[in-house]
Amino acid sequence: MDTVEKWADMHIHTTKSDGSNTVEQVFEHARREGISAIAITDHDTVAAGVEGRILEKACGIEFVTGVELSAVYENREVHIIGLYVNPENKNFQERLSYFQKRRAERAEKIVKKLREQGLKIQYEELYEITENMNNAGRLHIAKLLVKKNFALSIKDAFNKYLAEGRPAYMEKAKLTVGEAVELIKEAKGISILAHPVLLDKDGMIETWKKEGLDGLEAFHPDHSYEDMSRYLDIANKFDMLVSGGSDCHGSGKDHTRIGKIKLPYRYYEKLKKYQMERNGAKI
Ligand code: AMP
Ligand code: FE
Ligand code: FE
Ligand code: ZN
Repeated sequence: MDTVEKWADMHIHTTKSDGSNTVEQVFEHARREGISAIAITDHDTVAAGVEGRILEKACGIEFVTGVELSAVYENREVHIIGLYVNPENKNFQERLSYFQKRRAERAEKIVKKLREQGLKIQYEELYEITENMNNAGRLHIAKLLVKKNFALSIKDAFNKYLAEGRPAYMEKAKLTVGEAVELIKEAKGISILAHPVLLDKDGMIETWKKEGLDGLEAFHPDHSYEDMSRYLDIANKFDMLVSGGSDCHGSGKDHTRIGKIKLPYRYYEKLKKYQMERNGAKI
């Protein structure tokens, strides 16, 4: 019997946020890795969507418009992925523009904090690393620190300066998990708790589910086999959807490349079916 396993990747970044691959390169890599469906989930932007829709047809890979939002719970960053978000939704667009504006301001403040630490670094130096300052993030700043030999690696830059609790850490917009989930729902999307092991707040999942959270990212490069099994069990227990992907950021973050972690296609089909049914399509 010839059954070819099919795969999806529901968590990918591009140059529209802090990834180093263009939208086109993402499609190329997905094709090379035999992936049938991808979601581009840039931080606070759906700018990859227009190109994604065109390449979907050209490459024969299904494309899902996604986003990764940042919320806060007890001073910890909670990343919430929105899949199938409608980029035309007015309120959603306005909120994303607000988050983007805050990103540019925040990058400036982070650079100021780094200067206070004695590092000779200018905000303008980020222009070379970031396609659009409204999408500037800590990964861009980490890359600049490595380039200028203020850090040995991206990890080192985070550990020394940029991670939560470190001297140049700056939070983003103060969105609660409930608000992030609501925003995604308003844009007709599915909300997924990203890389839950990094957050380490499994006890909150049931509460967030009650606030409207639809699913968990069980498949992620930072999850061990045990983590993945645990999140599959939790999703099952609370009747939640399962998602996952590579969280690919391109160069500089090699453990997250496309193809490293693939979502079995049956989970993608469930996401798609759920989305279609919720939006009133007859299956
Ligand atoms: P931002 O949205 O600007 O807060 O940046 C978040 C991004 O920084 C994440 O998506 C990762 O790409 C990266 N990041 C966060 N923490 C770390 C870390 N400890 N090591 C490497 N990259 C990190
Ligand atoms: Fe990122
Ligand atoms: Fe994330
Ligand atoms: Zn991500």
